[in-house]
Amino acid sequence: MNTKQIDEVLKNIDRQSILNKAKNATCEQVATILNKSQIEVEDIPILLSDASDSFLDVMANRSQNISLQRFGRTIQLYVPLYLSNFCSNICSYCGYAANHKINRRKISVAEAVKECQILSKQGFRNLLLVSGEDRKHITPEFLAEVAHALKDNFPALSMETQPFESVAEYQTCVQAGIDGLTIYQETYDRKIYDQIHIKGRKKDFTNRLHCIDHGGKAGMRRLGIGILLGIADMIPDAYALAIHGKYLQQKHWKSVLSFSFPRMQPMGTDFEIKYPVSDKQLAKLICVFRLIFNDSPIVLSTRESSDLRNTLLPCGVTQMSAGSSTEPGGYSEDSKAEKSGAQFDIGDQRSPSEMAKVITDAGYEPVWKDWQ
Ligand code: SF4
Repeated sequence: MNTKQIDEVLKNIDRQSILNKAKNATCEQVATILNKSQIEVEDIPILLSDASDSFLDVMANRSQNISLQRFGRTIQLYVPLYLSNFCSNICSYCGYAANHKINRRKISVAEAVKECQILSKQGFRNLLLVSGEDRKHITPEFLAEVAHALKDNFPALSMETQPFESVAEYQTCVQAGIDGLTIYQETYDRKIYDQIHIKGRKKDFTNRLHCIDHGGKAGMRRLGIGILLGIADMIPDAYALAIHGKYLQQKHWKSVLSFSFPRMQPMGTDFEIKYPVSDKQLAKLICVFRLIFNDSPIVLSTRESSDLRNTLLPCGVTQMSAGSSTEPGGYSEDSKAEKSGAQFDIGDQRSPSEMAKVITDAGYEPVWKDWQ
């Protein structure tokens, strides 16, 4: 399958029939699926239906066992470094949107180094470079410069910035030592996608979809995809995400594919969450992806509360952020004086060392470094 074909496949997913399948699901169907040795993408509507609520413990246990087999008793810790909150897009749910009057700032390479000295002292070796989506401010060359300055202290560097539209641009990043790329499609419901992405390059769904492929072709060792929960029906979106994931795994088989399920937090906007996702639904979603994608890392950020993160820790999650700041320059004391806008509120305020202790107390080993 090529990029054009996956676009067509995703376009032709019948979201209503997936919803109907979930609505009519029975406990017997759930039990039958959970008796299979391998869960498939087609099982998603039944396993995420209300009928599976009473099977959450069964799913969580199986999910935990698979995670222990494939990842051992480890939780990898990473931290985001916000490089810039400039954005040329207008997404109706985001406080960074171009039409919002917030303090905008891009940190320099020297400031990034200063931020990272703090993060390095805290133990982190796995860094996610994050920014709003604005080509004027964040270029492959700038990211390469940052990577060169940081890579001695951070053997694992990944990026979640605006998607680049050519393989060559990602190659510049890869050659500089950035080997992980995250691009969330947000939702696979194209009608809703078009409504909430009001202006800017992000409005082009297909263009965004192709960018993760560019990263794979450029040699990114780690690819991350996800959906933003709350903006569209979760079940068809989870199904589409899994189809997209299977395609990426096949096409970019040398890369590790990870999943993330951030819940919408409309900070600084009046965006109405029409499809709220409960804690229980989020837990089921994580378990279901672990049951289908046995070897894929699953990421849980500090958006979620400490209590929920503690509960979800053994359920299939393999990577967690800790001590995060979502504003450029947010880690260094000097820059705290003149605050720039944050992208979302932090639900789990625990420090990296507190988080490491929680992980250890739960019987897992906190892993600070991915590989070298
Ligand atoms: S979601 Fe991303 S692209 Fe959209 S406004 Fe926010 S930072 Fe910009």
